[in-house]
Amino acid sequence: MKYISTRGQAPELGFEEVMLTGLASDGGLYVPKKLPQFSVNDIRCLKGLDYPALAVEIIRPFVDGFLSEERLVQIVEQAYSPFRHKAVAPMVQLDSNEWVMELFHGPTLAFKDFALQLLGPLVNEALERRSEKAVILGATSGDTGSAAIEGCRACEHVDIFIMHPHNRVSEVQRRQMTTVIADNVHNIALEGSFDDCQALVKASFADQSFLEDGRRLIAVNSINWARIMAQIVYYFHAALSLGAPERELSFSVPTGNFGDIFAGYIARGMGLPIKQLIVATNSNNILHRFFANNSYTQQQLLPTLSPSMDIMISSNFERLLFNIQDRDGKKLKALMDKFDSTGSIAINPDRWKLARNVFVSDDSSDEDVISTIRQVFDDCGGYLLDPHTAIGVKAARACRADKSTPVVTLATAHPLKFPEPVIRAGLQEPPLPSWLADLHKRPEHYDVLANDKTVLHDYIRQTLAL
Ligand SMILES: *Cc1c(COP(=O)(O)O)cnc(C)c1O
Repeated sequence: MKYISTRGQAPELGFEEVMLTGLASDGGLYVPKKLPQFSVNDIRCLKGLDYPALAVEIIRPFVDGFLSEERLVQIVEQAYSPFRHKAVAPMVQLDSNEWVMELFHGPTLAFKDFALQLLGPLVNEALERRSEKAVILGATSGDTGSAAIEGCRACEHVDIFIMHPHNRVSEVQRRQMTTVIADNVHNIALEGSFDDCQALVKASFADQSFLEDGRRLIAVNSINWARIMAQIVYYFHAALSLGAPERELSFSVPTGNFGDIFAGYIARGMGLPIKQLIVATNSNNILHRFFANNSYTQQQLLPTLSPSMDIMISSNFERLLFNIQDRDGKKLKALMDKFDSTGSIAINPDRWKLARNVFVSDDSSDEDVISTIRQVFDDCGGYLLDPHTAIGVKAARACRADKSTPVVTLATAHPLKFPEPVIRAGLQEPPLPSWLADLHKRPEHYDVLANDKTVLHDYIRQTLAL
C-alpha cells in the first residue's frame, strides 16, 4: 500500500517509511492512497474471530510489503496479550440499543494502549531490520506518555524520552510513567506547561543535530498513521458483535485530536456499515463549532474535568479536510495556510453538508459530565463512567438519529484514572485494581529539567552515552 501526504508535495511512501517519518516533509499528514475495501461477504467472514485474529485481518492490507503474515500474527498477539480482559474490548449495555465499548483494559487503562502496544513493536521491527537505533521523543499531558512508555519498554532499538509538565499531571498518571524501570525509558518533568513540552518536541524535530550518531528521531503522537490504523480494528469488533454487515450502527467518540474518530471514518470508508459518527467534545469545542456552524476557529484553552480532550486545535482534522476537499493537496495547503495566519476557516457549504451526512457533534460542560456520571450510575446498576466517556454518552443520547440503530460510545479511559468528577458526583472513588495496588509505593524515576532546548538536548545526549 502507498501513502500520500495531505499537502500534496511530499513523496509517496510505503507503510514502514510512513511509520518512521511521522509528519510528511511538506508539513502534511500521510493517508492511504486508496483504502482497502471489505465487501459484505468479506465482513461476514470476520464474524466470530477473537480480537487479535480480527486485528490481523484488518491491519494486513495496510502493512502490505512490510510484514509477513506470520510475523504480523506474532506481533499482534503479543501486543494485545497484556490486556486484562479476555475480550480485549468488551461491550457493556447501558440501555436498549445503547452500548459502551470498554477500551481501557490495557496496561495504562486508556484506549491509547490499543495503538501504542502495537506501534512500539512495529517500530522496533523496522529498526532491527535496518540495524538502526532511534529516539522517541514525546510530550504528554497524561495518557499518551504512559501508553507510549508501556509500548516501548521492551523495544531494544528504541530509547524513549517522555516530557510531562512538572507538578501538572495527576499523581496516578505520573506514577504510571515514572515507576516503569527500564534502561531505555527516560522520564522528564519539565519546568513549564504542556505547551512548553510540545514546543520543545517540535523544536527538536526541526533541529536534530543533537543526535550525533545518526540516530533517528521518531514521533508517536496521534499524527502517526500507524496509530490510526490500529484503532480501526475496534470499530469492526463492535460492529460485528452488534450484527454487521447485516445491521448498521453508530458510534459516539470522545474527541480531542480527532485521531480516534478518524479511525471510525476510515472503517466506514472500508465498507463497514456505520450510519453516524458522533463527535463528542468538552468545552474545548472547536470541532463541535465546525460541525454545527461550518466554523473551524481557534479559541483559548479551558482546563476541564476531561483533560485528555483539552485541545485548541485537532491535529488529525486535516486528514478529514483533505478528503472532503476532493483529496486535493494544493487546496488543502491553501486552507491550512489560511488557518495558520487567521486562526479561522470555513469550507465550501456543499462540502460541509456532505460531511454532516456522516458526522454530527455535541459538547459537554463539566456540570454535564458530573450529571451524566451520576445518571448512568443510578440507572445502570452502579456502572461508573470516566469523564471522557460520560461526554460520549451524553453526545450519543443527544445526537443519535433514531433508536432502532444501535449506538456505541467508546469508553476511552477507566474511571479510576480521573477520580475528581466521580467524587463530585457524590460517588465513591474506585479502588486501584490489585495489579496496581502498590502503585503509590513503587519507586519513581524522573529528572526535573529547565524549559530550555539546550538543557534538554544535553540531557538526551548524556543519557544515550551512558
Ligand atoms: C487521547 C484521549 C482522548 C481523545 O482522543 P483523540 O484521538 O485525540 O481524539 C479521549 N479520551 C481519552 C481518555 C484520551 O486519553
